[in-house]
Amino acid sequence: MNIVESELQTATRLTHAGRKGKAHHGPVNPALVRASTILFPDVAALKNACGTRRAYGRHGNETTQALEQALCAAEGAAACMLTSSGLSAVTTTLLALLQPGDHLLMVDTVYDPTRDFCDGLLQRMNISTTYYDPLIGRDITALIQPNTRVVFVESPGSLTFEVQDIPAIAAQAHARGAVVVSDSTWATPIGWNSFELGIDVSIHAATKYIVGHSDALMGAILTTAALHDRIRSTYRQLGMSIGADDAALALRGLRTMAARLAVHRESAKVVALWLQQQPEVAEVLYPPLPGCAGHDLWKRDFKPDYACGLMGAVFHADISEQQVAALIDKTRLFGIGFSWGGFESLMLPTSPAAYRTVNADKWTAPMLRLHVGLEDVDDLLADLAHGFDALRKTVQVQHEPCLLKAVV
Ligand SMILES: *Cc1c(COP(=O)(O)O)cnc(C)c1O
Repeated sequence: MNIVESELQTATRLTHAGRKGKAHHGPVNPALVRASTILFPDVAALKNACGTRRAYGRHGNETTQALEQALCAAEGAAACMLTSSGLSAVTTTLLALLQPGDHLLMVDTVYDPTRDFCDGLLQRMNISTTYYDPLIGRDITALIQPNTRVVFVESPGSLTFEVQDIPAIAAQAHARGAVVVSDSTWATPIGWNSFELGIDVSIHAATKYIVGHSDALMGAILTTAALHDRIRSTYRQLGMSIGADDAALALRGLRTMAARLAVHRESAKVVALWLQQQPEVAEVLYPPLPGCAGHDLWKRDFKPDYACGLMGAVFHADISEQQVAALIDKTRLFGIGFSWGGFESLMLPTSPAAYRTVNADKWTAPMLRLHVGLEDVDDLLADLAHGFDALRKTVQVQHEPCLLKAVV
Protein backbone atom coordinates (compact mmCIF):
# COMPACT_ATOMS: atom_id res chain seq x y z
CA MET A 1 0.00 0.00 0.00
CA ASN A 2 1.37 3.42 -0.94
CA ILE A 3 1.81 6.10 1.65
CA VAL A 4 -0.26 9.23 1.03
CA GLU A 5 2.26 11.78 2.22
CA SER A 6 -0.21 14.59 2.77
CA GLU A 7 -2.06 12.49 5.37
CA LEU A 8 0.99 12.04 7.56
CA GLN A 9 2.20 14.20 10.42
CA THR A 10 5.28 16.33 9.83
CA ALA A 11 7.77 14.15 11.68
CA THR A 12 6.60 11.08 9.78
CA ARG A 13 6.81 12.89 6.47
CA LEU A 14 10.37 13.98 7.17
CA THR A 15 11.54 10.46 7.88
CA HIS A 16 9.83 9.02 4.78
CA ALA A 17 9.95 11.89 2.28
CA GLY A 18 11.56 10.93 -1.01
CA ARG A 19 11.53 7.23 -0.08
CA LYS A 20 8.94 4.67 -1.08
CA GLY A 21 7.68 3.36 2.25
CA LYS A 22 7.69 -0.45 2.38
CA ALA A 23 8.47 -0.56 -1.32
CA HIS A 24 11.86 0.99 -0.52
CA HIS A 25 14.33 -1.91 -0.46
CA GLY A 26 18.08 -2.09 -0.01
CA PRO A 27 20.03 0.56 1.89
CA VAL A 28 17.86 3.04 3.76
CA ASN A 29 19.70 6.02 2.32
CA PRO A 30 20.40 6.80 -1.35
CA ALA A 31 23.89 6.00 -2.60
CA LEU A 32 26.40 8.82 -2.29
CA VAL A 33 27.20 9.47 -5.95
CA ARG A 34 30.15 11.75 -6.67
CA ALA A 35 30.08 12.48 -10.37
CA SER A 36 30.92 15.04 -13.02
CA THR A 37 31.12 12.96 -16.22
CA ILE A 38 28.35 10.46 -16.91
CA LEU A 39 29.23 7.76 -19.49
CA PHE A 40 26.80 6.52 -22.16
CA PRO A 41 26.89 3.25 -24.11
CA ASP A 42 26.47 4.91 -27.52
CA VAL A 43 25.76 8.19 -29.28
CA ALA A 44 22.02 7.52 -29.38
CA ALA A 45 21.91 7.18 -25.60
CA LEU A 46 24.00 10.35 -25.21
CA LYS A 47 21.60 12.25 -27.46
CA ASN A 48 18.63 10.91 -25.54
CA ALA A 49 20.03 12.20 -22.29
CA CYS A 50 20.81 15.68 -23.61
CA GLY A 51 18.49 18.32 -22.20
CA THR A 52 17.45 16.00 -19.36
CA ARG A 53 18.88 16.01 -15.87
CA ARG A 54 20.81 12.78 -16.55
CA ALA A 55 23.44 14.09 -18.96
CA TYR A 56 26.05 15.73 -16.77
CA GLY A 57 27.01 15.91 -13.09
CA ARG A 58 26.21 19.60 -12.72
CA HIS A 59 22.55 18.81 -13.27
CA GLY A 60 22.45 16.50 -10.27
CA ASN A 61 22.35 12.79 -9.59
CA GLU A 62 20.56 10.25 -7.37
CA THR A 63 21.96 11.78 -4.20
CA THR A 64 21.04 15.38 -4.90
CA GLN A 65 17.68 14.44 -6.41
CA ALA A 66 16.75 12.43 -3.32
CA LEU A 67 17.24 15.61 -1.28
CA GLU A 68 15.20 17.66 -3.76
CA GLN A 69 12.33 15.18 -3.56
CA ALA A 70 12.41 15.05 0.21
CA LEU A 71 12.35 18.86 0.48
CA CYS A 72 9.45 19.09 -1.98
CA ALA A 73 7.51 16.56 0.07
CA ALA A 74 8.36 18.35 3.32
CA GLU A 75 7.00 21.72 2.17
CA GLY A 76 4.47 20.65 -0.46
CA ALA A 77 6.38 22.29 -3.32
CA ALA A 78 6.19 21.35 -6.98
CA ALA A 79 9.94 21.66 -7.55
CA CYS A 80 13.20 22.20 -5.72
CA MET A 81 16.53 23.60 -6.87
CA LEU A 82 19.60 23.36 -4.67
CA THR A 83 22.34 25.98 -4.56
CA SER A 84 25.72 26.41 -2.92
CA SER A 85 24.43 28.71 -0.15
CA GLY A 86 21.27 30.29 1.18
CA LEU A 87 22.38 33.59 -0.32
CA SER A 88 22.82 32.11 -3.80
CA ALA A 89 19.30 30.65 -3.58
CA VAL A 90 18.02 34.21 -3.02
CA THR A 91 20.14 35.77 -5.77
CA THR A 92 19.32 33.04 -8.31
CA THR A 93 15.59 33.48 -7.69
CA LEU A 94 15.69 37.26 -7.99
CA LEU A 95 17.79 37.11 -11.17
CA ALA A 96 15.26 34.66 -12.62
CA LEU A 97 12.22 36.79 -11.85
CA LEU A 98 13.50 40.32 -12.57
CA GLN A 99 14.86 42.06 -15.63
CA PRO A 100 16.23 45.55 -16.38
CA GLY A 101 13.59 48.19 -15.72
CA ASP A 102 11.72 46.08 -13.17
CA HIS A 103 10.97 47.08 -9.60
CA LEU A 104 11.35 44.97 -6.44
CA LEU A 105 9.60 45.51 -3.11
CA MET A 106 11.96 44.26 -0.42
CA VAL A 107 11.19 43.99 3.28
CA ASP A 108 13.43 46.33 5.28
CA THR A 109 14.24 43.60 7.80
CA VAL A 110 15.73 41.27 5.22
CA TYR A 111 18.94 39.32 5.79
CA ASP A 112 21.62 41.94 5.18
CA PRO A 113 23.56 40.24 2.34
CA THR A 114 20.28 40.06 0.38
CA ARG A 115 20.11 43.83 0.75
CA ASP A 116 23.69 44.15 -0.54
CA PHE A 117 22.65 42.21 -3.64
CA CYS A 118 19.70 44.56 -4.28
CA ASP A 119 21.83 47.67 -3.78
CA GLY A 120 24.71 46.17 -5.78
CA LEU A 121 24.17 43.82 -8.69
CA LEU A 122 20.43 44.46 -9.12
CA GLN A 123 20.94 48.21 -9.13
CA ARG A 124 23.71 47.86 -11.74
CA MET A 125 21.20 45.93 -13.87
CA ASN A 126 18.75 48.84 -13.61
CA ILE A 127 16.42 46.91 -11.31
CA SER A 128 15.20 49.24 -8.58
CA THR A 129 14.38 48.27 -4.99
CA THR A 130 12.04 49.94 -2.51
CA TYR A 131 12.41 48.79 1.10
CA TYR A 132 9.14 48.56 3.02
CA ASP A 133 8.12 48.35 6.67
CA PRO A 134 7.74 44.67 7.70
CA LEU A 135 4.47 45.55 9.46
CA ILE A 136 2.95 47.21 6.39
CA GLY A 137 0.32 44.51 5.74
CA ARG A 138 -2.23 45.29 3.04
CA ASP A 139 -0.98 48.88 2.76
CA ILE A 140 1.79 47.47 0.58
CA THR A 141 -0.60 48.18 -2.25
CA ALA A 142 0.38 51.87 -2.20
CA LEU A 143 4.00 50.90 -2.98
CA ILE A 144 3.26 48.56 -5.88
CA GLN A 145 4.24 50.16 -9.18
CA PRO A 146 3.25 49.02 -12.69
CA ASN A 147 6.74 47.48 -13.06
CA THR A 148 6.81 45.76 -9.64
CA ARG A 149 7.41 42.09 -10.39
CA VAL A 150 8.43 40.69 -7.00
CA VAL A 151 7.40 41.34 -3.41
CA PHE A 152 9.97 39.78 -1.11
CA VAL A 153 9.06 38.78 2.45
CA GLU A 154 11.10 37.42 5.32
CA SER A 155 9.15 36.57 8.46
CA PRO A 156 10.12 36.83 11.24
CA GLY A 157 12.61 39.49 10.09
CA SER A 158 16.36 39.11 10.51
CA LEU A 159 17.65 40.37 13.89
CA THR A 160 14.40 42.11 14.92
CA PHE A 161 11.88 39.27 14.35
CA GLU A 162 8.85 41.22 13.08
CA VAL A 163 6.10 38.86 11.88
CA GLN A 164 4.66 39.89 8.52
CA ASP A 165 1.04 39.60 7.44
CA ILE A 166 1.95 37.47 4.44
CA PRO A 167 -1.61 36.60 3.28
CA ALA A 168 -2.51 40.32 3.18
CA ILE A 169 0.70 41.22 1.35
CA ALA A 170 0.33 38.30 -1.08
CA ALA A 171 -3.25 39.22 -1.91
CA GLN A 172 -2.19 42.74 -2.91
CA ALA A 173 0.87 41.50 -4.83
CA HIS A 174 -1.08 38.88 -6.76
CA ALA A 175 -3.87 41.33 -7.60
CA ARG A 176 -1.24 43.51 -9.30
CA GLY A 177 0.61 40.73 -11.09
CA ALA A 178 3.63 40.47 -8.80
CA VAL A 179 4.94 37.23 -7.31
CA VAL A 180 5.75 36.68 -3.64
CA VAL A 181 9.20 35.35 -2.80
CA SER A 182 9.90 34.40 0.80
CA ASP A 183 13.12 33.83 2.67
CA SER A 184 11.60 31.09 4.83
CA THR A 185 14.74 30.08 6.70
CA TRP A 186 13.23 30.71 10.16
CA ALA A 187 10.11 28.70 9.28
CA THR A 188 12.07 25.80 7.68
CA PRO A 189 9.98 23.68 5.26
CA ILE A 190 7.76 22.51 8.15
CA GLY A 191 6.89 25.68 10.09
CA TRP A 192 3.94 26.87 8.04
CA ASN A 193 1.94 26.07 4.90
CA SER A 194 3.94 28.52 2.81
CA PHE A 195 2.09 28.05 -0.47
CA GLU A 196 -1.31 28.33 1.21
CA LEU A 197 -0.21 31.63 2.78
CA GLY A 198 0.31 32.98 -0.75
CA ILE A 199 4.05 32.47 -1.15
CA ASP A 200 5.08 31.54 -4.71
CA VAL A 201 8.74 30.79 -4.07
CA SER A 202 9.99 29.66 -0.67
CA ILE A 203 13.73 29.95 -0.16
CA HIS A 204 15.77 28.31 2.59
CA ALA A 205 19.26 28.72 3.89
CA ALA A 206 19.48 24.92 4.28
CA THR A 207 22.75 25.76 6.03
CA LYS A 208 20.63 26.33 9.15
CA TYR A 209 18.22 23.66 10.48
CA ILE A 210 18.07 21.43 7.40
CA VAL A 211 21.79 20.63 7.48
CA GLY A 212 21.48 21.23 11.20
CA HIS A 213 25.04 20.43 12.27
CA SER A 214 27.04 23.49 11.15
CA ASP A 215 29.08 21.45 8.69
CA ALA A 216 27.79 22.48 5.26
CA LEU A 217 26.41 25.48 3.40
CA MET A 218 23.42 25.08 1.09
CA GLY A 219 20.40 26.87 -0.32
CA ALA A 220 17.07 25.50 -1.49
CA ILE A 221 14.57 27.15 -3.83
CA LEU A 222 11.13 25.57 -3.46
CA THR A 223 8.56 26.73 -5.95
CA THR A 224 5.10 26.30 -7.38
CA ALA A 225 4.82 24.63 -10.79
CA ALA A 226 3.96 27.97 -12.42
CA LEU A 227 7.38 29.50 -11.76
CA HIS A 228 9.52 26.39 -12.01
CA ASP A 229 10.60 26.64 -15.66
CA ARG A 230 11.60 30.28 -15.38
CA ILE A 231 13.69 29.76 -12.28
CA ARG A 232 15.19 26.48 -13.53
CA SER A 233 16.32 28.17 -16.73
CA THR A 234 18.25 30.91 -14.87
CA TYR A 235 19.54 28.35 -12.39
CA ARG A 236 21.04 26.34 -15.27
CA GLN A 237 22.46 29.40 -17.02
CA LEU A 238 24.19 30.46 -13.82
CA GLY A 239 25.75 27.01 -13.48
CA MET A 240 24.31 26.42 -10.02
CA SER A 241 25.17 23.04 -8.53
CA ILE A 242 25.87 21.37 -5.20
CA GLY A 243 28.23 18.58 -4.15
CA ALA A 244 26.80 15.15 -3.39
CA ASP A 245 28.55 14.99 -0.01
CA ASP A 246 26.73 18.13 1.08
CA ALA A 247 23.44 16.75 -0.26
CA ALA A 248 23.92 13.60 1.83
CA LEU A 249 24.62 15.74 4.92
CA ALA A 250 21.50 17.82 4.28
CA LEU A 251 19.34 14.74 3.74
CA ARG A 252 20.64 13.27 6.98
CA GLY A 253 19.88 16.54 8.72
CA LEU A 254 16.36 16.69 7.30
CA ARG A 255 15.48 13.24 8.68
CA THR A 256 15.94 14.42 12.27
CA MET A 257 14.90 18.03 11.82
CA ALA A 258 11.44 17.79 13.40
CA ALA A 259 12.85 16.02 16.46
CA ARG A 260 15.67 18.54 16.84
CA LEU A 261 13.34 21.49 16.38
CA ALA A 262 11.08 20.21 19.17
CA VAL A 263 14.02 20.48 21.57
CA HIS A 264 15.16 23.86 20.19
CA ARG A 265 11.58 25.11 20.62
CA GLU A 266 11.07 23.93 24.21
CA SER A 267 14.46 25.20 25.39
CA ALA A 268 14.05 28.49 23.52
CA LYS A 269 10.77 29.16 25.33
CA VAL A 270 12.45 28.59 28.70
CA VAL A 271 15.35 30.85 27.76
CA ALA A 272 13.03 33.56 26.41
CA LEU A 273 11.02 33.58 29.66
CA TRP A 274 14.21 33.73 31.71
CA LEU A 275 15.54 36.64 29.66
CA GLN A 276 12.26 38.52 30.15
CA GLN A 277 12.85 38.41 33.90
CA GLN A 278 16.26 40.08 33.76
CA PRO A 279 15.99 43.77 34.71
CA GLU A 280 18.53 44.83 32.07
CA VAL A 281 16.42 43.35 29.26
CA ALA A 282 13.84 45.73 27.79
CA GLU A 283 12.30 43.31 25.30
CA VAL A 284 12.63 39.72 24.17
CA LEU A 285 12.08 39.21 20.45
CA TYR A 286 10.60 35.72 20.18
CA PRO A 287 7.18 35.70 18.48
CA PRO A 288 6.23 32.17 19.63
CA LEU A 289 6.11 33.43 23.22
CA PRO A 290 2.70 34.87 24.20
CA GLY A 291 3.02 38.60 24.85
CA CYS A 292 6.02 39.03 22.54
CA ALA A 293 5.65 41.35 19.54
CA GLY A 294 4.14 39.55 16.56
CA HIS A 295 2.69 36.69 18.61
CA ASP A 296 -0.87 37.01 17.30
CA LEU A 297 0.12 36.87 13.62
CA TRP A 298 2.63 34.14 14.39
CA LYS A 299 -0.15 32.11 16.00
CA ARG A 300 -2.41 32.60 13.01
CA ASP A 301 0.12 31.67 10.32
CA PHE A 302 2.62 29.23 11.81
CA LYS A 303 1.86 25.65 12.77
CA PRO A 304 0.88 25.37 16.44
CA ASP A 305 3.67 23.01 17.37
CA TYR A 306 6.36 24.86 15.45
CA ALA A 307 9.07 27.23 16.67
CA CYS A 308 12.82 27.31 16.38
CA GLY A 309 15.67 28.35 18.65
CA LEU A 310 16.51 31.80 17.28
CA MET A 311 15.58 34.97 19.20
CA GLY A 312 16.69 38.47 20.04
CA ALA A 313 16.99 40.48 23.23
CA VAL A 314 16.95 44.27 23.43
CA PHE A 315 18.67 45.87 26.42
CA HIS A 316 17.70 49.08 28.16
CA ALA A 317 19.42 52.11 26.65
CA ASP A 318 21.70 52.57 29.66
CA ILE A 319 23.36 49.21 29.05
CA SER A 320 26.58 49.65 27.07
CA GLU A 321 27.96 47.62 24.21
CA GLN A 322 30.91 46.71 26.44
CA GLN A 323 28.53 45.24 28.99
CA VAL A 324 26.86 43.12 26.32
CA ALA A 325 30.30 42.04 25.09
CA ALA A 326 31.21 41.05 28.67
CA LEU A 327 28.04 38.94 28.90
CA ILE A 328 28.83 37.17 25.63
CA ASP A 329 32.51 36.67 26.42
CA LYS A 330 31.84 35.21 29.87
CA THR A 331 29.33 32.54 28.87
CA ARG A 332 30.98 29.15 28.38
CA LEU A 333 28.37 27.26 26.37
CA PHE A 334 27.22 29.93 23.90
CA GLY A 335 29.64 30.08 20.97
CA ILE A 336 30.40 33.42 19.35
CA GLY A 337 29.87 33.20 15.61
CA PHE A 338 27.62 33.82 12.62
CA SER A 339 24.90 31.53 11.33
CA TRP A 340 22.51 29.40 13.40
CA GLY A 341 20.41 26.26 13.19
CA GLY A 342 23.13 23.84 14.27
CA PHE A 343 23.02 21.74 17.43
CA GLU A 344 25.01 24.31 19.39
CA SER A 345 24.02 27.49 21.19
CA LEU A 346 25.34 30.78 19.85
CA MET A 347 25.33 34.47 20.71
CA LEU A 348 26.08 37.64 18.78
CA PRO A 349 25.81 41.35 19.53
CA THR A 350 23.66 42.97 16.83
CA SER A 351 23.15 46.51 15.50
CA PRO A 352 20.20 46.32 13.09
CA ALA A 353 20.01 50.10 12.61
CA ALA A 354 23.11 49.90 10.42
CA TYR A 355 21.21 47.80 7.85
CA ARG A 356 17.86 49.57 7.80
CA THR A 357 16.32 52.49 5.96
CA VAL A 358 12.77 52.25 7.41
CA ASN A 359 12.42 52.81 11.18
CA ALA A 360 16.19 52.50 11.65
CA ASP A 361 16.04 54.76 14.72
CA LYS A 362 13.81 52.22 16.47
CA TRP A 363 16.83 49.97 17.06
CA THR A 364 19.53 51.99 18.76
CA ALA A 365 19.81 50.15 22.10
CA PRO A 366 22.35 47.33 22.39
CA MET A 367 20.97 44.00 21.23
CA LEU A 368 21.82 40.36 21.39
CA ARG A 369 20.89 37.49 19.11
CA LEU A 370 20.75 34.02 20.65
CA HIS A 371 20.49 30.64 19.09
CA VAL A 372 19.31 28.13 21.68
CA GLY A 373 20.90 24.79 20.85
CA LEU A 374 20.39 21.23 22.00
CA GLU A 375 22.34 21.47 25.26
CA ASP A 376 20.44 20.79 28.50
CA VAL A 377 18.39 23.92 29.14
CA ASP A 378 19.32 24.12 32.84
CA ASP A 379 22.98 24.25 31.86
CA LEU A 380 22.15 27.04 29.42
CA LEU A 381 20.29 29.03 32.08
CA ALA A 382 23.19 28.67 34.52
CA ASP A 383 25.54 29.83 31.78
CA LEU A 384 23.36 32.82 30.97
CA ALA A 385 23.24 33.73 34.66
CA HIS A 386 27.02 33.69 34.66
CA GLY A 387 27.04 35.99 31.61
CA PHE A 388 24.60 38.42 33.22
CA ASP A 389 26.81 38.51 36.34
CA ALA A 390 29.66 39.68 34.10
CA LEU A 391 27.40 42.30 32.53
CA ARG A 392 26.46 43.59 36.00
CA LYS A 393 30.06 43.71 37.16
CA THR A 394 30.97 45.70 34.06
CA VAL A 395 28.31 48.25 35.07
CA GLN A 396 30.16 49.04 38.29
CA VAL A 397 33.47 49.58 36.53
CA GLN A 398 31.76 51.81 34.00
CA HIS A 399 29.59 53.85 36.31
CA GLU A 400 32.21 54.50 38.97
CA PRO A 401 35.42 55.44 37.17
CA CYS A 402 36.09 58.33 39.56
CA LEU A 403 35.71 56.13 42.58
CA LEU A 404 38.18 53.66 41.07
CA LYS A 405 40.68 56.43 40.43
CA ALA A 406 40.30 57.65 43.98
CA VAL A 407 41.10 54.19 45.28
CA VAL A 408 44.23 54.03 43.10
C1 LIG B 1 21.90 32.53 6.98
C2 LIG B 1 20.81 33.13 6.23
C3 LIG B 1 20.87 33.22 4.85
C4 LIG B 1 22.10 32.86 4.06
O1 LIG B 1 22.45 31.51 4.13
P1 LIG B 1 23.94 31.08 3.75
O2 LIG B 1 23.83 29.63 3.51
O3 LIG B 1 24.79 31.45 4.91
O4 LIG B 1 24.33 31.84 2.51
C5 LIG B 1 19.78 33.73 4.18
N1 LIG B 1 18.69 34.14 4.85
C6 LIG B 1 18.60 34.05 6.18
C7 LIG B 1 17.34 34.51 6.84
C8 LIG B 1 19.65 33.56 6.92
O5 LIG B 1 19.56 33.52 8.25
